[in-house]
Amino acid sequence: MPTEESGIANEVRRLAKVLGAAEALRRITKEIFESLDDPFKGCRRVLCIQPHPDDCEYGAGATLAELADAGVEITYLTLTDGSKGTLDPSMDPRVLAQIRRLEQERAAKVVGVKKLLWLDYLDGELPYSAEVRSKLIEAIRAEKPDVVFAPDPYLLYEAHPDHRVGGLLALEAAMFSPLPLFSRGSQPHEVRAVVLYYTARPNLLKPVDRTFERKLQALKMHESQFSSSWNLFELYLRVVAAAYGAQAGSEYAEAFRVLPTSLLHATALSELV
Ligand SMILES: [Zn+2]
Repeated sequence: MPTEESGIANEVRRLAKVLGAAEALRRITKEIFESLDDPFKGCRRVLCIQPHPDDCEYGAGATLAELADAGVEITYLTLTDGSKGTLDPSMDPRVLAQIRRLEQERAAKVVGVKKLLWLDYLDGELPYSAEVRSKLIEAIRAEKPDVVFAPDPYLLYEAHPDHRVGGLLALEAAMFSPLPLFSRGSQPHEVRAVVLYYTARPNLLKPVDRTFERKLQALKMHESQFSSSWNLFELYLRVVAAAYGAQAGSEYAEAFRVLPTSLLHATALSELV
């Protein structure tokens, strides 16, 4: 009698002969990890990690609003103070940080997010360090999310270091948070999947027709960021969401790259799914 494992190996062998190894492995991996198709199924808690105030809404606001409406508890973890996000040379960075915190509180209310955590690193200078990673591990263990959102650090031409560094540290923290010898003392917690926003390689297009306008309303709360260029920004958001929506069979969709945490280390399968 063949074991289940040898049955799967034979199945992948058969598929690989016809489709090539990469496509065969992609299909088998999709079958094994249900979270790839619907990372939010049965989801109770979400942690959305953002480099600056506004990134959670910009990258995932409509999906987060859907989740909030479904009773999912969402926490935002903002890594920096956003104190340099301005074109105004007369702006005091400390004042801007306060303004952006208030804007973020208002925007979170529109989305339905009640809990906001802040690490307050200096805008543009988020260190790639074990210290920040430990803070992210602690936040994951305290919030116990089923799913963690973060910016995709492998967005090739992303020029903002906080986005690249924040995305990398979020992936590392999701991988290490089940391991008790990292950040000793707190209770280990395993996240089901990481959902990357700002991605050029989406594997999940989430229809968001019901909440897309709310995403725009939430983004409008970030007046210091978008008020002077709102019309162009809104057009950009609509065009991108409409294109993904057409592919997803809806009017608007948000695009994500979903990775189960067990694919975050030492495997090419994360590239293939
Ligand atoms: Zn940002």
